[in-house]
Amino acid sequence: MSGIEGKVVAITGASSGIGEATAIYLAERGACLVLGARREDRLNAVVDRITAQGGSAVGAVVDVTRREDLKRLADTAVDHFGRLDVLVSNAGTMAISPFDELRQDDWDAMVATHITGLLNGIGAALPIFRRQHSGQFVNVASTAAYVVKSPQAVYAATKTAVKVLTEGLRQESGPDLRVTLVSPGFTNTEGVGKGGSPEAAAAAVRYRDEIAMPPSAVASAIGYAIEQPDGVDVSEIVVRPTVQA
Ligand code: NDP
Repeated sequence: MSGIEGKVVAITGASSGIGEATAIYLAERGACLVLGARREDRLNAVVDRITAQGGSAVGAVVDVTRREDLKRLADTAVDHFGRLDVLVSNAGTMAISPFDELRQDDWDAMVATHITGLLNGIGAALPIFRRQHSGQFVNVASTAAYVVKSPQAVYAATKTAVKVLTEGLRQESGPDLRVTLVSPGFTNTEGVGKGGSPEAAAAAVRYRDEIAMPPSAVASAIGYAIEQPDGVDVSEIVVRPTVQA
C-alpha cells in the first residue's frame, strides 16, 4: 500500500500543535484517524473539525504514560477501521528548566511521556503490525535529540532516547515494517513555554515568536514518510526553521 488515502493512522498528542496539524493534513488526504490525548474537549474539537469536512476520525482519551490507554488507542483503530497502518507517537511536554530548580515532577513527566509513552505505543502496536505483516511507527523527537542546549538537558535526554529507541526498533523491524524518526526544530505551538521554569518558558516563547515554523511543516514531513510505497522506509527527517542554528 502506498499513499495516504485509506490508511488507518493513530496519533498521540492530537489535541493541539503538531499532532492536531498532522491529523488535519492526513485527513485532508483521505486517512482514517484515531486521535489520542488527555483533554477530551480539545480532542473532540479536532475530531469534529475533521468529520465536518467529510473526513474520518474517532477520538480516544488517552494518557500515554498508561500502558492500557495505548492498547485501547490501538484497539480502537482495529475495532473501528479493521486495521492499524501507522502509529504516530507525538505526545510530549517541553517543561524545560535548570537543574538547580529541582523541578523533579517535570523531569518525571518528560521521562514518562517521551520514553515510557513511546514504549507503551510500541507495545500496543507491534503485535498488530506483526499480525498484519505491515505497519509503520512514526516517532516525533526534536532537534534537541541532536544537540543539548541549557536548560534543556532533561528534555534533550528524553528526545535522544526517542531517537535511540527508534533506530533500535528499525533494526529489529524486518522487511514488513517501517520506522521513521521525525525531529522538528522550533515549531509554533502552544506547547512551547508550557510548564518548566518561568524564565526558560518566557525565553522559549520569545524565540518561538521570532523564528518558529508552522506545525503544518512537520505535518507534511510526517505525511511524506507515510506516503512512500511499502518497501521504502524514510528513516529520519529533521525539519527546522532556516534561521534556527
Ligand atoms: P503541544 O503542547 O501543542 O502538543 C502536545 C500534545 O501532547 C498535546 O496534544 C497534549 O495533549 C499531548 N500530551 C502531552 N502529554 C500527554 C500524555 N501524557 N498523554 C497523552 N497526550 C499527551 O506541543 P507540540 O505540538 O509542539 O508538541 C508535539 C511534539 O513535538 C512533542 O513531542 C514535542 O516534544 C515535539 N516537538 C515540539 C517542538 C516545538 O518547537 N513545538 C520542537 C521539537 C519537538 P493533552 O494535554 O490533551 O494530553
